[in-house]
Amino acid sequence: MMESLLAVARRTDPPDSLTAYYRRQLPELHRLERLIRKGEPRLQSSVLAEVCDGNLALPVYALTIGNPAPDAPVLLLSGGIHGVERIGTQLVLAQLRNLLSRLEWDQGLRQDLEHIRLVLCPLVNPVGMAHGWRSNGNGVDLMRNAPIDAEQPGPWLVSGHRISRWLPWYRGPREDPMQPEAQALCALVQSQISAAPFALSLDCHSGFGMRDRIWFPYAGNNRLFENAAEMHALTRLFERALPHHPYVIEPQFHQYRTHGDLWDYLYRIRRDKGPGLFMPLTLEMGSWLWVKKNLRQLTSFKGLFNPMVPHRHKRILRRHSLLLDFLIRATRSWQSWVPYDDDRRTHQRQAERRWAWPDRR
Ligand SMILES: [Zn+2]
Repeated sequence: MMESLLAVARRTDPPDSLTAYYRRQLPELHRLERLIRKGEPRLQSSVLAEVCDGNLALPVYALTIGNPAPDAPVLLLSGGIHGVERIGTQLVLAQLRNLLSRLEWDQGLRQDLEHIRLVLCPLVNPVGMAHGWRSNGNGVDLMRNAPIDAEQPGPWLVSGHRISRWLPWYRGPREDPMQPEAQALCALVQSQISAAPFALSLDCHSGFGMRDRIWFPYAGNNRLFENAAEMHALTRLFERALPHHPYVIEPQFHQYRTHGDLWDYLYRIRRDKGPGLFMPLTLEMGSWLWVKKNLRQLTSFKGLFNPMVPHRHKRILRRHSLLLDFLIRATRSWQSWVPYDDDRRTHQRQAERRWAWPDRR
């Protein structure tokens, strides 16, 4: 049962100041709570963690919709790990709103959700988003916070460091546990996919380059992950279904490498656990294109990561609907396209030709 933000906050602060806080700093959380109310009882919600902003306790919500059986295939959507990248959260919320409206009439979608479970964590880092920070409230970059070191780290600082919380890309102290937001996301992913025979995730970010990119592991070394054959099969399926799609699909290490990547960490845990396929994807929306089209965006930190012109904002929220629709179908029908035996070996060779880097890099 949902514990509303109002209820959480009443324990710490008068509702009046909370309403003002919402309006001013966190409309996304307000919108998320409205969607939770709209989606009940079909949409289940829970509070994974509460994180403090001064004397306010802000919830990190998880939502599930569809088949609750532990062995149902899973598609997981997340956003707002980097607080400044509001568009990631807004994209997940727009998709949720769209799904809830379609479920009122769309028999096909209803049938899809009888077979699969959608899991959403639209706003992982509410304190960061409230302040327009990349980091969480403790100054930690949650996407550098997993307890794994890169085997081949990228550029100094950007790849993650432990020098000071006042510098970007801070990993947090070595001896500390993961930050509450990162722990919450990891616990959610592990509990939702541990018995699933097939799981995909899409974590929505913005701010890198001119193109929209879909990344898969690894982020911490130059090797293709162990499910490159399956990733290649999924990519080919997507390219045939949507030949003019706008994405560059590649391993993250083609662009840069980092310590402490949460998806490398979660992928390895699931891989080592035994049977079951998990492919974590990251959508990196190419915000430099929006900046190029509106140079005024250069004058604000927020403007480097989010579309500021209303018509572009709407276009971006629409732009990824086909991808999300495809991922729902691919999850539902995973047994029709996941390759085995000779077919898998062929995809593996094609994946290596397309994505592998020679050792010297
Ligand atoms: Zn990001």
